[in-house]
Amino acid sequence: MALPGTSSGLHIAHIAAEMAPVAKVGGLADVISGLGKALQKKGHLVEIILPKYDCMQVDQVSNLKVLDVLVQSYFEGNMFNNKIWTGTVEGLPVYFIEPEHPAKFFWRAQYYGEHDDFKRFSYFSRAALELLYQSGKKVDIIHCHDWQTAFVAPLYWDVYANLGFNSARICFTCHNFEYQGSAPARDLAWCGLDVEHLDRPDRMRDNSHGRINVVKGAVVYSNIVTTVSPTYALEVRSEGGRGLQDTLKVHSRKFLGILNGIDTDTWNPSTDRYLKVQYNANDLQGKAANKAALRKQLNLASAYPSQPLVGCITRLVPQKGVHLIRHAIYKTAELGGQFVLLGSSPVPDIQREFEGIAEYFQNNNNIRLLLKYDDALSHCIYAASDMFIVPSIFEPCGLTQMIAMRYGSVPIVRKTGGLNDSVFDFDDEAIPMEVRNGFTFVKADEQGLSGAMERAFNCYTRKPEVWKQLVQKDMRIDFSWDTSASQYEDIYQKAAARARAAA
Ligand code: ADP
Repeated sequence: MALPGTSSGLHIAHIAAEMAPVAKVGGLADVISGLGKALQKKGHLVEIILPKYDCMQVDQVSNLKVLDVLVQSYFEGNMFNNKIWTGTVEGLPVYFIEPEHPAKFFWRAQYYGEHDDFKRFSYFSRAALELLYQSGKKVDIIHCHDWQTAFVAPLYWDVYANLGFNSARICFTCHNFEYQGSAPARDLAWCGLDVEHLDRPDRMRDNSHGRINVVKGAVVYSNIVTTVSPTYALEVRSEGGRGLQDTLKVHSRKFLGILNGIDTDTWNPSTDRYLKVQYNANDLQGKAANKAALRKQLNLASAYPSQPLVGCITRLVPQKGVHLIRHAIYKTAELGGQFVLLGSSPVPDIQREFEGIAEYFQNNNNIRLLLKYDDALSHCIYAASDMFIVPSIFEPCGLTQMIAMRYGSVPIVRKTGGLNDSVFDFDDEAIPMEVRNGFTFVKADEQGLSGAMERAFNCYTRKPEVWKQLVQKDMRIDFSWDTSASQYEDIYQKAAARARAAA
């Protein structure tokens, strides 16, 4: 184990827009706390910097207090005060930045989706770096995530390094290349970046339109660039890169894919307080009790304990294969199973469509659609379900298939991105039996999904003993952050060593 402050114990600061459970929209939040905790366990000093959102779950922060300092940061030609709050989330020290800016950037009752998101997060990126700079901390690694904090990379090297704040190295992780953060070039100046210097094809100008692209800027300016699975890292070098493929090819020497882990403290059926009954791989009776409890809670038919229950927990956005999720509902009904969907959509048309499906099935006691975000209920669905559907069109990593397996729910997924790196087809004789853990399909069409579902239902109903062994095997797979955190540790150490050598 490395000790903080020793040559191998690193000081790592994550600057991010989300962190579970205090400010969570999706997988990014899980990564910040899961990876942060794993690195802390390895002996590194890990700190997190987040915006202080009005809508965050303050009850998830211990010892939340305002620090007796005001950090001033630059924006649109003026200096603004920022209140700095500190607290502990999941054992990790967190700094929350509350800007004293008339636009009330983080008093919007939601995390994203505001007309001025580009402004809000470029402000935050600048203020977060200013906090590190003014604190005099000797940080080794500044790790920023997704477009919201991608501004950190060019700001660090073009602004702060010139002030002598240059001992750290920048790691940027793109959790999804669909969201790249683009704006007219002049908007870069708001946070103090030099528009003329950066609005160039080899720096921040988008590869296909005249605007600037913040994720591109982070790819160009960071010392390390990662994405969240090896397969997705390959996919984004071609059309999956959404226009950034050539940039990623140019910078391929510093780019790699590391599969996310899951937080095995949060996601642990043997200690999970949200469950009716805790259970483990040796006690599937406990799992059955959770299935019975959920059926009761949702008013689902419960005459046949062995009637298979299919779960799906997702943001309802095109990436997740919404037409295939819809198909899975009808297919489950046809195959005689039960289906529970927990999902909400930021896209009004999709939300309306699923409200229509929910209404259609409201008197059917085998199908339930819960169109909301509900963390507690998500735990109960993982525990209660026998199978879990993830039919994504693309999926950078995906956490739900791993969480599902940990709770003994067998995944049925499309072979793409991180799903391809974590789910291996039960019937594929080309791979060793011990790693086969779910059902996969390749083509993003109804036929492909139906085939995988039929094979899963067949195995479940005709070979209960085989199914039971599959469930137990899935529950015992190590999806902890341990291995992936070691990979991050390795690339951080190498970058920090190069920084020391350069100094
Ligand atoms: P993404 O980051 O693209 O949304 P991931 O699979 O990486 O997808 O992460 C999704 C995370 O969000 C999981 O922890 C999942 O349990 C959670 N989640 C998604 N939708 C909901 C919902 N409606 N209610 C509760 N949790 C949800």
